[in-house]
Amino acid sequence: MTLALHGISVSRGIAIGRALVWGTASHDVPRLTLRAPEDIVSEQKRFDVAVKEVLDELDALRADLPADTPAEVDALLNLHSLILRDPALSEQPKVLVEQRKINAEWALIIQKENLMAQFEAIEDSYLRERNADIQQLVERVMKSLRGASVCPLPESGTSGEEPWVLVAHDISPADMMQLRDRSVAAFVTDVGGATSHTAILARSLNIPAVVGVSHASTMIRHGELAVVDGKAGVALIDPDDIVVEEYRRKKALLALSRQRLQRLKDTPIQTVCGSRIELFANIELPEDMKQVMEVGADGVGLFRSEFLFMNRKDWPSEDEQYESYSSVVKAMKGKTVTVRTLDLGADKTLQTDEAHAAPPPSTNTALGLRSIRFCLAEPTIFLTQLRAILRASVHGPVRILLPMISNTREIQQSLNYIAMAKQQLQLKGLAIEDPVPVGAMVEVPAAALCLPMLTSRMDFLSVGTNDLIQYVLAIDRVDASVAFMYDPLHPAVLRLLNDTITAGRKAGIPVSICGEMAGDVRVTRLLLGMGLKNFSVHASQLLDVKEVVLKTTLADIEKAVGRVLRTHDPARIAIAMKQISDA
Ligand code: PEP
Ligand code: MG
Repeated sequence: MTLALHGISVSRGIAIGRALVWGTASHDVPRLTLRAPEDIVSEQKRFDVAVKEVLDELDALRADLPADTPAEVDALLNLHSLILRDPALSEQPKVLVEQRKINAEWALIIQKENLMAQFEAIEDSYLRERNADIQQLVERVMKSLRGASVCPLPESGTSGEEPWVLVAHDISPADMMQLRDRSVAAFVTDVGGATSHTAILARSLNIPAVVGVSHASTMIRHGELAVVDGKAGVALIDPDDIVVEEYRRKKALLALSRQRLQRLKDTPIQTVCGSRIELFANIELPEDMKQVMEVGADGVGLFRSEFLFMNRKDWPSEDEQYESYSSVVKAMKGKTVTVRTLDLGADKTLQTDEAHAAPPPSTNTALGLRSIRFCLAEPTIFLTQLRAILRASVHGPVRILLPMISNTREIQQSLNYIAMAKQQLQLKGLAIEDPVPVGAMVEVPAAALCLPMLTSRMDFLSVGTNDLIQYVLAIDRVDASVAFMYDPLHPAVLRLLNDTITAGRKAGIPVSICGEMAGDVRVTRLLLGMGLKNFSVHASQLLDVKEVVLKTTLADIEKAVGRVLRTHDPARIAIAMKQISDA
Protein backbone atom coordinates (compact mmCIF):
# COMPACT_ATOMS: atom_id res chain seq x y z
CA MET A 1 0.00 0.00 0.00
CA THR A 2 1.28 3.45 -0.89
CA LEU A 3 2.23 5.65 2.05
CA ALA A 4 1.93 9.37 1.27
CA LEU A 5 4.05 11.59 3.52
CA HIS A 6 3.54 15.34 3.35
CA GLY A 7 6.05 18.03 4.21
CA ILE A 8 7.34 21.41 3.09
CA SER A 9 8.26 21.75 -0.55
CA VAL A 10 11.74 23.22 -0.84
CA SER A 11 13.06 22.16 -4.20
CA ARG A 12 10.83 21.14 -7.05
CA GLY A 13 11.26 18.30 -9.47
CA ILE A 14 10.37 14.63 -9.42
CA ALA A 15 12.59 11.75 -8.37
CA ILE A 16 11.97 8.03 -8.31
CA GLY A 17 14.44 5.91 -6.40
CA ARG A 18 15.25 3.65 -3.46
CA ALA A 19 15.20 5.07 0.07
CA LEU A 20 18.53 5.30 1.80
CA VAL A 21 17.72 5.96 5.44
CA TRP A 22 20.69 7.77 6.88
CA GLY A 23 21.12 8.63 10.53
CA THR A 24 23.59 9.49 13.20
CA ALA A 25 24.28 6.49 15.38
CA SER A 26 22.65 8.08 18.45
CA HIS A 27 19.42 8.79 16.59
CA ASP A 28 16.62 6.25 16.71
CA VAL A 29 18.54 3.78 18.86
CA PRO A 30 17.02 0.27 19.19
CA ARG A 31 15.55 -0.33 22.66
CA LEU A 32 15.35 -4.00 23.63
CA THR A 33 14.39 -5.77 26.84
CA LEU A 34 16.58 -8.76 27.68
CA ARG A 35 15.10 -11.96 29.05
CA ALA A 36 17.91 -14.49 29.41
CA PRO A 37 20.86 -13.95 31.84
CA GLU A 38 23.31 -14.89 29.08
CA ASP A 39 21.92 -11.99 26.97
CA ILE A 40 22.91 -9.60 29.74
CA VAL A 41 26.45 -10.93 29.78
CA SER A 42 26.70 -10.80 26.02
CA GLU A 43 25.44 -7.16 25.93
CA GLN A 44 28.02 -6.20 28.54
CA LYS A 45 30.73 -7.88 26.48
CA ARG A 46 29.55 -6.10 23.34
CA PHE A 47 29.79 -2.81 25.22
CA ASP A 48 33.35 -3.59 26.41
CA VAL A 49 34.40 -4.41 22.85
CA ALA A 50 32.94 -1.14 21.55
CA VAL A 51 34.69 0.94 24.22
CA LYS A 52 37.99 -0.85 23.53
CA GLU A 53 37.57 -0.20 19.79
CA VAL A 54 37.08 3.53 20.37
CA LEU A 55 40.04 3.72 22.76
CA ASP A 56 42.21 1.99 20.13
CA GLU A 57 40.94 4.42 17.48
CA LEU A 58 41.84 7.39 19.67
CA ASP A 59 45.33 5.97 20.30
CA ALA A 60 45.81 5.39 16.57
CA LEU A 61 44.70 8.94 15.78
CA ARG A 62 47.19 10.34 18.29
CA ALA A 63 50.01 8.18 16.92
CA ASP A 64 49.33 9.40 13.35
CA LEU A 65 49.19 13.12 14.08
CA PRO A 66 51.42 15.06 11.64
CA ALA A 67 54.42 16.75 13.29
CA ASP A 68 53.04 20.28 12.81
CA THR A 69 49.71 19.49 14.56
CA PRO A 70 49.05 22.00 17.34
CA ALA A 71 49.63 20.51 20.80
CA GLU A 72 45.96 21.14 21.71
CA VAL A 73 44.80 18.45 19.28
CA ASP A 74 46.90 15.78 20.98
CA ALA A 75 45.69 17.06 24.33
CA LEU A 76 42.05 16.83 23.21
CA LEU A 77 42.42 13.24 22.00
CA ASN A 78 44.09 12.38 25.27
CA LEU A 79 41.25 14.03 27.17
CA HIS A 80 38.74 11.95 25.21
CA SER A 81 40.61 8.76 26.14
CA LEU A 82 40.56 9.79 29.81
CA ILE A 83 36.83 10.63 29.75
CA LEU A 84 36.01 7.33 28.09
CA ARG A 85 38.08 5.38 30.63
CA ASP A 86 36.14 7.01 33.45
CA PRO A 87 33.82 4.40 35.04
CA ALA A 88 30.91 6.81 34.55
CA LEU A 89 31.13 6.08 30.83
CA SER A 90 32.93 2.78 30.58
CA GLU A 91 31.29 0.87 33.48
CA GLN A 92 27.98 2.47 34.46
CA PRO A 93 26.18 1.53 31.19
CA LYS A 94 26.99 -2.12 31.96
CA VAL A 95 25.43 -1.71 35.42
CA LEU A 96 22.32 -0.32 33.72
CA VAL A 97 22.25 -3.28 31.32
CA GLU A 98 22.12 -5.59 34.31
CA GLN A 99 19.79 -3.57 36.54
CA ARG A 100 17.23 -2.69 33.86
CA LYS A 101 17.77 -5.71 31.61
CA ILE A 102 18.18 -3.58 28.52
CA ASN A 103 20.50 -3.63 25.51
CA ALA A 104 23.83 -1.80 25.51
CA GLU A 105 22.75 1.02 23.14
CA TRP A 106 19.77 1.88 25.30
CA ALA A 107 21.89 1.83 28.46
CA LEU A 108 24.45 4.10 26.85
CA ILE A 109 21.80 6.65 25.89
CA ILE A 110 20.37 6.65 29.44
CA GLN A 111 23.82 7.15 30.94
CA LYS A 112 24.59 9.92 28.45
CA GLU A 113 21.42 11.75 29.49
CA ASN A 114 22.31 11.30 33.19
CA LEU A 115 25.77 12.71 32.64
CA MET A 116 24.53 15.61 30.53
CA ALA A 117 22.06 16.58 33.25
CA GLN A 118 24.86 16.52 35.85
CA PHE A 119 27.12 18.63 33.63
CA GLU A 120 24.36 21.19 32.96
CA ALA A 121 24.19 21.84 36.71
CA ILE A 122 27.93 22.57 36.99
CA GLU A 123 28.79 26.25 37.42
CA ASP A 124 32.30 26.09 36.00
CA SER A 125 31.84 26.87 32.29
CA TYR A 126 34.94 24.88 31.24
CA LEU A 127 33.62 21.71 32.85
CA ARG A 128 30.11 22.40 31.56
CA GLU A 129 31.44 22.56 28.01
CA ARG A 130 32.84 19.01 28.35
CA ASN A 131 29.25 18.05 27.59
CA ALA A 132 30.13 18.24 23.90
CA ASP A 133 33.05 15.83 24.42
CA ILE A 134 30.73 13.32 26.04
CA GLN A 135 28.28 13.58 23.17
CA GLN A 136 31.07 12.97 20.65
CA LEU A 137 32.38 10.00 22.60
CA VAL A 138 28.93 8.48 22.99
CA GLU A 139 28.40 8.87 19.24
CA ARG A 140 31.70 7.04 18.59
CA VAL A 141 30.88 4.19 20.95
CA MET A 142 27.36 4.00 19.51
CA LYS A 143 28.75 3.77 15.97
CA SER A 144 30.98 0.95 17.07
CA LEU A 145 28.07 -0.84 18.80
CA ARG A 146 25.69 -0.48 15.90
CA GLY A 147 28.27 -1.25 13.22
CA ALA A 148 26.76 -1.82 9.80
CA SER A 149 23.23 -0.98 10.94
CA VAL A 150 24.13 2.72 10.81
CA CYS A 151 24.06 3.70 7.22
CA PRO A 152 27.00 5.87 6.12
CA LEU A 153 26.48 8.72 3.64
CA PRO A 154 26.22 7.06 0.25
CA GLU A 155 29.42 6.88 -1.77
CA SER A 156 27.57 7.22 -5.02
CA GLY A 157 24.14 8.38 -6.15
CA THR A 158 22.80 4.98 -7.15
CA SER A 159 21.88 1.68 -5.57
CA GLY A 160 22.45 -0.60 -8.53
CA GLU A 161 19.81 0.34 -11.12
CA GLU A 162 17.97 2.97 -9.14
CA PRO A 163 19.15 6.30 -7.71
CA TRP A 164 19.11 6.91 -3.95
CA VAL A 165 16.47 9.02 -2.27
CA LEU A 166 18.21 10.14 0.90
CA VAL A 167 15.94 10.04 3.96
CA ALA A 168 17.27 11.48 7.22
CA HIS A 169 16.19 13.09 10.45
CA ASP A 170 18.14 16.16 9.35
CA ILE A 171 20.95 16.93 6.93
CA SER A 172 23.35 19.70 7.84
CA PRO A 173 24.59 22.10 5.13
CA ALA A 174 28.05 20.56 5.64
CA ASP A 175 26.67 17.05 4.93
CA MET A 176 24.89 18.40 1.87
CA MET A 177 28.18 19.70 0.57
CA GLN A 178 29.62 16.19 0.84
CA LEU A 179 26.67 14.81 -1.07
CA ARG A 180 26.83 17.26 -3.93
CA ASP A 181 29.14 15.10 -6.05
CA ARG A 182 27.24 11.90 -5.39
CA SER A 183 24.16 12.77 -7.45
CA VAL A 184 21.58 11.67 -4.91
CA ALA A 185 18.17 11.87 -6.62
CA ALA A 186 16.17 13.53 -3.82
CA PHE A 187 16.11 14.39 -0.11
CA VAL A 188 13.41 13.85 2.49
CA THR A 189 13.99 15.00 6.07
CA ASP A 190 11.99 14.91 9.32
CA VAL A 191 12.81 18.53 10.18
CA GLY A 192 13.83 21.75 8.46
CA GLY A 193 12.34 24.86 6.89
CA ALA A 194 12.09 26.12 3.32
CA THR A 195 14.88 28.66 3.71
CA SER A 196 17.27 26.58 5.81
CA HIS A 197 20.66 26.33 4.12
CA THR A 198 20.10 22.63 3.52
CA ALA A 199 17.00 23.54 1.50
CA ILE A 200 18.86 26.30 -0.30
CA LEU A 201 21.60 23.84 -1.28
CA ALA A 202 19.05 21.31 -2.55
CA ARG A 203 17.58 24.07 -4.71
CA SER A 204 20.96 25.15 -5.99
CA LEU A 205 21.83 21.54 -6.82
CA ASN A 206 18.46 21.26 -8.55
CA ILE A 207 17.54 18.20 -6.50
CA PRO A 208 13.90 17.61 -5.50
CA ALA A 209 13.56 17.90 -1.73
CA VAL A 210 10.84 17.82 0.89
CA VAL A 211 11.60 18.78 4.51
CA GLY A 212 9.56 18.81 7.71
CA VAL A 213 8.10 15.34 6.96
CA SER A 214 7.44 14.24 10.55
CA HIS A 215 8.97 10.83 11.34
CA ALA A 216 10.01 10.18 7.73
CA SER A 217 13.27 8.64 8.87
CA THR A 218 11.49 6.20 11.17
CA MET A 219 8.51 5.41 8.92
CA ILE A 220 10.44 4.84 5.70
CA ARG A 221 12.43 1.62 5.50
CA HIS A 222 15.82 1.33 3.88
CA GLY A 223 15.52 0.15 0.27
CA GLU A 224 11.83 0.99 -0.19
CA LEU A 225 10.79 2.51 -3.50
CA ALA A 226 10.12 6.23 -3.12
CA VAL A 227 8.65 8.87 -5.40
CA VAL A 228 9.44 12.44 -4.35
CA ASP A 229 7.38 15.29 -5.76
CA GLY A 230 9.40 18.32 -4.66
CA LYS A 231 6.87 20.90 -5.83
CA ALA A 232 3.91 19.29 -4.07
CA GLY A 233 6.02 18.55 -0.98
CA VAL A 234 5.07 14.86 -0.98
CA ALA A 235 6.98 11.60 -0.70
CA LEU A 236 5.13 8.47 -1.85
CA ILE A 237 6.54 5.30 -0.34
CA ASP A 238 6.10 1.90 -1.91
CA PRO A 239 3.80 3.30 -4.62
CA ASP A 240 1.70 1.14 -6.99
CA ASP A 241 3.03 0.58 -10.50
CA ILE A 242 0.37 2.84 -11.95
CA VAL A 243 1.45 5.73 -9.68
CA VAL A 244 5.09 5.21 -10.63
CA GLU A 245 4.15 5.28 -14.32
CA GLU A 246 2.23 8.53 -13.87
CA TYR A 247 5.23 10.12 -12.14
CA ARG A 248 7.60 8.90 -14.87
CA ARG A 249 5.36 10.69 -17.36
CA LYS A 250 5.31 13.90 -15.25
CA LYS A 251 9.09 13.72 -14.89
CA ALA A 252 9.55 13.48 -18.67
CA LEU A 253 7.21 16.47 -19.20
CA LEU A 254 9.19 18.51 -16.69
CA ALA A 255 12.43 17.68 -18.48
CA LEU A 256 10.85 18.87 -21.74
CA SER A 257 9.72 22.15 -20.25
CA ARG A 258 13.24 22.73 -18.86
CA GLN A 259 14.66 22.19 -22.32
CA ARG A 260 12.19 24.71 -23.72
CA LEU A 261 13.20 27.28 -21.09
CA GLN A 262 16.84 26.79 -22.02
CA ARG A 263 16.10 28.54 -25.32
CA LEU A 264 15.68 31.81 -23.36
CA LYS A 265 19.33 31.75 -22.31
CA ASP A 266 20.57 34.43 -24.70
CA THR A 267 17.40 36.56 -24.89
CA PRO A 268 18.05 40.05 -23.45
CA ILE A 269 16.18 40.43 -20.16
CA GLN A 270 13.58 43.15 -20.24
CA THR A 271 9.91 43.57 -19.57
CA VAL A 272 7.44 43.86 -22.46
CA CYS A 273 7.50 47.65 -21.91
CA GLY A 274 11.30 47.71 -22.26
CA SER A 275 12.44 48.06 -18.65
CA ARG A 276 15.88 46.42 -18.43
CA ILE A 277 16.22 43.93 -15.58
CA GLU A 278 19.38 42.18 -14.36
CA LEU A 279 19.34 38.53 -13.33
CA PHE A 280 22.35 37.58 -11.25
CA ALA A 281 23.17 34.14 -9.82
CA ASN A 282 23.69 32.88 -6.26
CA ILE A 283 26.53 30.40 -5.81
CA GLU A 284 28.02 28.44 -2.93
CA LEU A 285 31.23 27.16 -4.54
CA PRO A 286 33.25 27.87 -7.72
CA GLU A 287 31.96 24.51 -9.06
CA ASP A 288 28.52 26.12 -9.41
CA MET A 289 29.83 28.34 -12.22
CA LYS A 290 29.20 25.68 -14.86
CA GLN A 291 25.46 25.92 -14.25
CA VAL A 292 25.65 29.73 -14.02
CA MET A 293 27.25 29.93 -17.48
CA GLU A 294 24.64 27.56 -18.89
CA VAL A 295 21.81 29.94 -18.01
CA GLY A 296 23.59 33.15 -19.07
CA ALA A 297 23.48 35.09 -15.77
CA ASP A 298 24.31 38.83 -15.84
CA GLY A 299 26.64 38.43 -12.87
CA VAL A 300 27.06 36.71 -9.52
CA GLY A 301 24.95 38.54 -6.94
CA LEU A 302 25.76 36.33 -3.96
CA PHE A 303 28.80 34.10 -3.51
CA ARG A 304 28.13 32.46 -0.12
CA SER A 305 31.84 32.27 0.70
CA GLU A 306 31.34 30.39 3.99
CA PHE A 307 30.83 27.16 2.03
CA LEU A 308 34.55 27.26 1.16
CA PHE A 309 35.22 26.88 4.87
CA MET A 310 33.07 23.80 5.53
CA ASN A 311 34.02 20.13 5.79
CA ARG A 312 37.60 20.87 6.78
CA LYS A 313 39.36 21.37 10.07
CA ASP A 314 41.59 24.31 9.13
CA TRP A 315 40.87 27.74 7.67
CA PRO A 316 41.54 28.22 3.96
CA SER A 317 44.63 30.39 3.44
CA GLU A 318 44.60 33.75 1.65
CA ASP A 319 46.08 32.15 -1.49
CA GLU A 320 43.55 29.33 -1.47
CA GLN A 321 40.67 31.77 -1.12
CA TYR A 322 42.18 34.03 -3.77
CA GLU A 323 42.25 31.09 -6.20
CA SER A 324 38.58 30.33 -5.53
CA TYR A 325 37.37 33.93 -5.88
CA SER A 326 39.54 34.54 -8.98
CA SER A 327 38.29 31.39 -10.69
CA VAL A 328 34.72 32.73 -10.39
CA VAL A 329 35.73 36.24 -11.51
CA LYS A 330 37.61 34.85 -14.52
CA ALA A 331 34.68 32.60 -15.47
CA MET A 332 32.32 35.60 -15.47
CA LYS A 333 34.48 37.33 -18.13
CA GLY A 334 33.97 40.95 -17.14
CA LYS A 335 30.58 40.55 -15.44
CA THR A 336 30.25 41.53 -11.78
CA VAL A 337 30.97 39.02 -9.00
CA THR A 338 29.66 39.82 -5.51
CA VAL A 339 31.54 37.97 -2.78
CA ARG A 340 29.76 37.97 0.54
CA THR A 341 32.18 37.91 3.47
CA LEU A 342 31.94 34.98 5.87
CA ASP A 343 28.39 34.46 7.09
CA LEU A 344 29.01 31.66 9.57
CA GLY A 345 26.79 30.61 12.42
CA ALA A 346 23.20 29.41 12.92
CA ASP A 347 22.83 26.35 10.63
CA LYS A 348 26.16 27.01 8.84
CA THR A 349 28.64 25.38 11.17
CA LEU A 350 32.28 24.46 10.87
CA GLN A 351 34.23 21.36 11.72
CA THR A 352 37.19 23.28 13.14
CA ASP A 353 38.86 21.79 16.17
CA GLU A 354 39.94 23.58 19.32
CA ALA A 355 43.04 24.98 17.63
CA HIS A 356 40.92 27.11 15.28
CA ALA A 357 38.44 29.81 16.14
CA ALA A 358 34.82 29.20 15.18
CA PRO A 359 31.57 30.94 16.11
CA PRO A 360 30.86 29.80 19.66
CA PRO A 361 27.71 27.77 20.26
CA SER A 362 24.98 30.11 21.39
CA THR A 363 21.75 29.54 23.23
CA ASN A 364 20.02 31.15 20.26
CA THR A 365 22.15 30.41 17.23
CA ALA A 366 20.41 32.92 14.96
CA LEU A 367 21.14 35.77 17.37
CA GLY A 368 24.65 34.93 18.52
CA LEU A 369 28.18 35.93 17.59
CA ARG A 370 27.68 34.99 13.96
CA SER A 371 28.27 36.46 10.52
CA ILE A 372 29.86 39.95 10.46
CA ARG A 373 29.90 39.96 14.29
CA PHE A 374 32.19 36.93 14.29
CA CYS A 375 34.44 38.46 11.59
CA LEU A 376 34.80 41.70 13.53
CA ALA A 377 35.70 39.68 16.62
CA GLU A 378 38.29 37.67 14.64
CA PRO A 379 40.15 40.32 12.58
CA THR A 380 42.84 37.91 11.36
CA ILE A 381 40.26 35.69 9.69
CA PHE A 382 38.39 38.70 8.30
CA LEU A 383 41.52 40.45 6.97
CA THR A 384 42.72 37.24 5.29
CA GLN A 385 39.44 36.96 3.44
CA LEU A 386 39.30 40.65 2.52
CA ARG A 387 42.83 40.52 1.06
CA ALA A 388 41.91 37.46 -1.00
CA ILE A 389 38.75 39.13 -2.38
CA LEU A 390 40.58 42.39 -3.15
CA ARG A 391 43.35 40.51 -4.96
CA ALA A 392 40.76 38.74 -7.15
CA SER A 393 39.58 42.18 -8.36
CA VAL A 394 42.46 42.37 -10.87
CA HIS A 395 40.70 39.68 -12.92
CA GLY A 396 37.36 41.49 -13.31
CA PRO A 397 34.72 43.51 -11.46
CA VAL A 398 34.32 42.38 -7.85
CA ARG A 399 32.05 43.69 -5.09
CA ILE A 400 32.28 42.99 -1.36
CA LEU A 401 28.99 42.27 0.40
CA LEU A 402 28.78 42.52 4.21
CA PRO A 403 26.20 40.20 5.85
CA MET A 404 23.97 40.87 8.86
CA ILE A 405 24.81 44.55 9.23
CA SER A 406 22.74 46.11 12.01
CA ASN A 407 24.49 49.31 13.09
CA THR A 408 26.87 52.11 12.09
CA ARG A 409 29.72 50.73 14.18
CA GLU A 410 29.75 47.49 12.15
CA ILE A 411 29.75 49.47 8.91
CA GLN A 412 32.61 51.71 10.05
CA GLN A 413 34.68 48.84 11.45
CA SER A 414 34.21 46.80 8.27
CA LEU A 415 35.24 49.74 6.09
CA ASN A 416 38.30 50.25 8.32
CA TYR A 417 39.29 46.61 7.89
CA ILE A 418 38.82 46.84 4.13
CA ALA A 419 41.10 49.92 4.08
CA MET A 420 43.62 48.04 6.25
CA ALA A 421 43.55 45.00 3.94
CA LYS A 422 44.23 47.28 0.95
CA GLN A 423 47.17 48.86 2.77
CA GLN A 424 48.62 45.46 3.65
CA LEU A 425 48.43 44.41 -0.02
CA GLN A 426 49.99 47.67 -1.20
CA LEU A 427 52.87 47.21 1.25
CA LYS A 428 53.49 43.79 -0.26
CA GLY A 429 53.34 45.31 -3.76
CA LEU A 430 50.25 43.26 -4.71
CA ALA A 431 47.90 44.83 -7.24
CA ILE A 432 44.17 45.43 -6.71
CA GLU A 433 41.51 47.23 -8.68
CA ASP A 434 40.44 50.28 -6.66
CA PRO A 435 37.74 51.13 -5.72
CA VAL A 436 36.04 47.82 -5.06
CA PRO A 437 32.35 48.59 -4.31
CA VAL A 438 31.23 47.62 -0.81
CA GLY A 439 27.59 46.82 -0.06
CA ALA A 440 25.49 45.58 2.83
CA MET A 441 22.92 42.86 3.15
CA VAL A 442 19.59 44.19 4.37
CA GLU A 443 18.52 41.21 6.48
CA VAL A 444 18.26 42.50 10.04
CA PRO A 445 15.12 44.61 10.64
CA ALA A 446 17.28 47.37 12.19
CA ALA A 447 18.99 47.87 8.82
CA ALA A 448 15.71 47.95 6.89
CA LEU A 449 14.30 50.47 9.37
CA CYS A 450 17.36 52.78 9.24
CA LEU A 451 18.05 52.82 5.52
CA PRO A 452 19.89 56.21 5.47
CA MET A 453 22.47 54.54 7.76
CA LEU A 454 23.24 52.24 4.79
CA THR A 455 22.59 54.45 1.78
CA SER A 456 24.98 57.11 3.15
CA ARG A 457 27.90 54.68 3.43
CA MET A 458 27.34 51.75 1.08
CA ASP A 459 27.75 51.44 -2.71
CA PHE A 460 24.93 48.91 -3.10
CA LEU A 461 22.38 46.95 -1.06
CA SER A 462 21.22 43.37 -1.28
CA VAL A 463 18.15 42.20 0.60
CA GLY A 464 18.48 38.83 2.32
CA THR A 465 14.80 37.96 2.56
CA ASN A 466 15.50 34.61 4.23
CA ASP A 467 16.89 36.21 7.36
CA LEU A 468 14.83 39.39 7.09
CA ILE A 469 11.59 37.36 7.21
CA GLN A 470 12.98 35.18 10.01
CA TYR A 471 13.78 38.20 12.16
CA VAL A 472 10.74 40.35 11.29
CA LEU A 473 8.24 37.57 11.96
CA ALA A 474 10.27 35.83 14.69
CA ILE A 475 10.10 32.54 12.75
CA ASP A 476 13.09 30.22 12.98
CA ARG A 477 13.82 29.48 9.33
CA VAL A 478 14.98 25.94 10.06
CA ASP A 479 12.11 24.96 12.35
CA ALA A 480 9.46 22.92 10.54
CA SER A 481 6.90 23.46 13.29
CA VAL A 482 6.62 27.19 12.55
CA ALA A 483 7.27 26.97 8.82
CA PHE A 484 3.61 27.65 8.06
CA MET A 485 4.11 31.16 9.53
CA TYR A 486 7.03 31.96 7.23
CA ASP A 487 5.18 34.45 5.06
CA PRO A 488 6.97 36.52 2.40
CA LEU A 489 3.66 38.32 1.75
CA HIS A 490 3.24 39.53 5.34
CA PRO A 491 2.53 43.29 5.14
CA ALA A 492 5.48 44.03 7.46
CA VAL A 493 7.86 42.19 5.13
CA LEU A 494 6.43 43.85 2.02
CA ARG A 495 6.70 47.28 3.59
CA LEU A 496 10.38 46.81 4.43
CA LEU A 497 11.11 45.47 0.93
CA ASN A 498 9.33 48.38 -0.72
CA ASP A 499 11.04 50.92 1.56
CA THR A 500 14.46 49.45 0.75
CA ILE A 501 13.90 49.48 -3.02
CA THR A 502 12.55 53.05 -2.84
CA ALA A 503 15.41 54.27 -0.62
CA GLY A 504 17.97 52.79 -3.00
CA ARG A 505 16.32 54.42 -6.01
CA LYS A 506 16.20 57.81 -4.28
CA ALA A 507 19.84 57.58 -3.21
CA GLY A 508 20.94 56.31 -6.64
CA ILE A 509 22.23 53.05 -5.13
CA PRO A 510 21.57 49.67 -6.79
CA VAL A 511 19.33 47.36 -4.76
CA SER A 512 19.11 43.64 -5.32
CA ILE A 513 17.22 40.83 -3.60
CA CYS A 514 19.32 37.70 -3.11
CA GLY A 515 17.13 35.74 -0.65
CA GLU A 516 14.95 32.83 -1.82
CA MET A 517 12.08 35.24 -2.53
CA ALA A 518 13.97 36.52 -5.59
CA GLY A 519 13.76 33.06 -7.19
CA ASP A 520 10.08 32.48 -6.38
CA VAL A 521 8.17 33.11 -9.62
CA ARG A 522 4.95 33.67 -7.67
CA VAL A 523 6.33 37.03 -6.46
CA THR A 524 8.47 38.06 -9.45
CA ARG A 525 5.86 40.47 -10.82
CA LEU A 526 5.17 41.96 -7.40
CA LEU A 527 8.89 42.72 -6.98
CA LEU A 528 9.06 44.19 -10.49
CA GLY A 529 6.08 46.37 -9.61
CA MET A 530 7.91 47.63 -6.51
CA GLY A 531 10.69 48.78 -8.82
CA LEU A 532 13.22 45.98 -8.28
CA LYS A 533 15.73 45.90 -11.13
CA ASN A 534 18.16 43.25 -9.95
CA PHE A 535 17.31 39.70 -8.83
CA SER A 536 19.94 37.26 -7.60
CA VAL A 537 18.74 33.65 -7.75
CA HIS A 538 20.04 30.09 -8.11
CA ALA A 539 21.02 29.20 -11.63
CA SER A 540 18.32 26.50 -11.51
CA GLN A 541 15.63 29.21 -11.08
CA LEU A 542 17.05 31.93 -13.30
CA LEU A 543 15.30 31.03 -16.55
CA ASP A 544 11.93 30.64 -14.82
CA VAL A 545 12.24 34.16 -13.42
CA LYS A 546 13.38 35.38 -16.82
CA GLU A 547 10.32 33.90 -18.49
CA VAL A 548 8.04 35.88 -16.13
CA VAL A 549 10.00 39.12 -16.66
CA LEU A 550 9.76 38.75 -20.42
CA LYS A 551 5.96 38.44 -20.18
CA THR A 552 5.38 41.42 -17.84
CA THR A 553 4.10 44.89 -18.71
CA LEU A 554 4.66 47.14 -15.71
CA ALA A 555 1.66 49.40 -16.39
CA ASP A 556 -0.65 46.36 -16.30
CA ILE A 557 0.31 45.44 -12.73
CA GLU A 558 0.85 48.88 -11.21
CA LYS A 559 -2.60 49.28 -9.62
CA ALA A 560 -2.74 45.76 -8.16
CA VAL A 561 0.79 46.14 -6.74
CA GLY A 562 -0.38 49.36 -5.05
CA ARG A 563 -3.33 47.43 -3.56
CA VAL A 564 -1.02 44.73 -2.16
CA LEU A 565 1.15 47.38 -0.53
CA ARG A 566 -1.73 49.35 0.97
CA THR A 567 -3.62 46.58 2.75
CA HIS A 568 -3.00 44.50 5.87
CA ASP A 569 -5.71 42.01 4.97
CA PRO A 570 -4.31 38.65 3.73
CA ALA A 571 -7.53 38.00 1.73
CA ARG A 572 -7.14 41.29 -0.18
CA ILE A 573 -3.46 40.57 -0.72
CA ALA A 574 -4.39 37.19 -2.20
CA ILE A 575 -6.95 38.80 -4.57
CA ALA A 576 -4.47 41.46 -5.72
CA MET A 577 -1.73 38.83 -6.19
CA LYS A 578 -4.10 36.86 -8.44
CA GLN A 579 -4.78 40.01 -10.48
CA ILE A 580 -1.03 40.57 -10.81
CA SER A 581 -0.40 37.05 -12.05
CA ASP A 582 -3.38 37.16 -14.48
CA ALA A 583 -2.39 40.55 -15.96
C1 PEP B 1 19.27 35.68 3.20
O1 PEP B 1 19.31 35.69 4.44
O2 PEP B 1 18.24 35.92 2.54
C2 PEP B 1 20.48 35.35 2.42
C3 PEP B 1 20.53 35.48 1.13
O3 PEP B 1 21.54 34.82 3.10
P1 PEP B 1 21.57 33.35 3.71
O4 PEP B 1 20.41 32.59 3.15
O5 PEP B 1 22.87 32.74 3.33
O6 PEP B 1 21.44 33.60 5.17
MG1 MG C 1 21.17 35.71 5.50
